[in-house]
Amino acid sequence: MQIYADNAATTKMSRAAIDAMTSYMNEVYGNPSSLHSIGQTAAEALMDARERVAAVLGAKPREIYFTSGGSEADNQAIISAATFGAKKGKKHIVSTAFEHHAVLHTLDKLRKQGFEITLLDPHECGIITAEEVAAAIRDDTALVTVMYANNEIGTIQPIAEIGAVCKERGVIFHTDAVQAVGHIKINVKEQNIDMLSLSAHKFHGPKGVGALYCRLGIPLTNIIEGGAQERGKRAGTENIPAIMGMAAAIEEASAKIDENREKLTKMRDRLIEGLSEIPHSILNGAQNPRLPGSVNMCFEGIEGESLLLLLDAKGVCASSGSACTSGSLDPSHVLLAIGRPHEVAHGSLRLTLCEDNTMEEVEYIIKAVKEVVAYLREMSPVWHDLKEGKKKYVIQ
Ligand SMILES: *Cc1c(COP(=O)(O)O)cnc(C)c1O
Repeated sequence: MQIYADNAATTKMSRAAIDAMTSYMNEVYGNPSSLHSIGQTAAEALMDARERVAAVLGAKPREIYFTSGGSEADNQAIISAATFGAKKGKKHIVSTAFEHHAVLHTLDKLRKQGFEITLLDPHECGIITAEEVAAAIRDDTALVTVMYANNEIGTIQPIAEIGAVCKERGVIFHTDAVQAVGHIKINVKEQNIDMLSLSAHKFHGPKGVGALYCRLGIPLTNIIEGGAQERGKRAGTENIPAIMGMAAAIEEASAKIDENREKLTKMRDRLIEGLSEIPHSILNGAQNPRLPGSVNMCFEGIEGESLLLLLDAKGVCASSGSACTSGSLDPSHVLLAIGRPHEVAHGSLRLTLCEDNTMEEVEYIIKAVKEVVAYLREMSPVWHDLKEGKKKYVIQ
C-alpha cells in the first residue's frame, strides 16, 4: 500500500490536465509568435487559457502573465513593486517571517540593494492580523507581501482585510497564493489584491508552469529578457501544453472547491483528533482558519527525519515541512517563527491530503504515526530523560 499525503509539496496531475496537455503536444504544436495558421492556432489557445485563468481569479485576461511557476511569479512581483516604489523614493517593504523562500530570498536580495524590510512575526496560531500590517506600513512603504496560506502549517491569512488596509494606504499588495488557488475561493478585485502568484502543480496541474496576476497600472519589471512574449514582460516561447494543462486544472479545481473542502475538512479534523492522542504532541497553527487538507504536528523527543523514513517504509509519503528545508538539518523557519523552540521544531510532521485520499487511509496514517512515534521514543535518549524527569517537557 502507498498513501500520498504530501500534496503541499506537489500533487498528482488530473486526467483533465493530462488530456489537455497531450492534445496540445500532438496537434497544436505551433509557436504563438508565428504568423502562419499553425502558429496562430496556438496563439488562440494561449488567449483562451489566459481568459480561463483570469475568470477563476476575477481578473482581466490582460492582467495574467504566464511564468515557469510560483517561484518566478513571486520573484517578478516583488522585484517589480520594489523597482516601481524606488522610482518614487519608496524603499520599504512589509512581509512576514514565515513566507516561502521564493519570497524571503528575493527580499534578502533587495535588502542588499538598500531596501529596508520589515518581517512581521506570526502569532503562535500561525496568523498575522491586518492591524499589524497597518501598523508596519510607513510613508515610504512600496509593497506589502503576505502569503495567502502557509505551505508548512496551512494557516490562512486575513487577505481581504490586509488588502483593504493596503488600498487605503496606497501601498501595492502582493500575495503568494500558491497554496490557496484551487483550494479557496479567491476574487482579486473584491479582496483588493494587486498582485498574486500561483503555481499549477499545487492544484493537480503540471510542474514548471504558473502565473502572475498583476493589476493594470502596476508596471512589471522583466526577470527574463528576450522576445516580446507576455506583452513584453516575460520572454521565452510559451509552454503551450503546460499552460493548457494549467487552465484545465484550475477550472476543475475551482469547480470542486466546495465539495473538496467538505470532504477534506472531515479527514483533516479526524487526523488532528487521532494524532493528538499521542502524548506530548501539539498541532502547529490554529485548527481554523486552515487549508482543508493540511495538518502539521510536533512530537516531543523525536527527529522528524527518522519519522518520515519509517513512515515511508509503512507506505505513508509525508513531509517534515517544505521541500526546501527537508534534507537540511536546520529546523523549519516557519515553526521557529510561530515560536516553537528548536528541539520541538525538529520533531515535526506535515501531512497534506487531497480529495483522492480516503478516510480508511486517514485511519491507517494515524495508526502508523502512533506506532512509529512510540518506537522512536523508545530509542531516544532525550525521551528517556524527559520520562525520568531529568528534563522538563516543552509540550505538555
Ligand atoms: C510551492 C510553493 C511555491 C513555489 O512554487 P513553484 O511552482 O514550485 O516554483 C511558492 N510559494 C508557496 C507558498 C509554495 O507552496
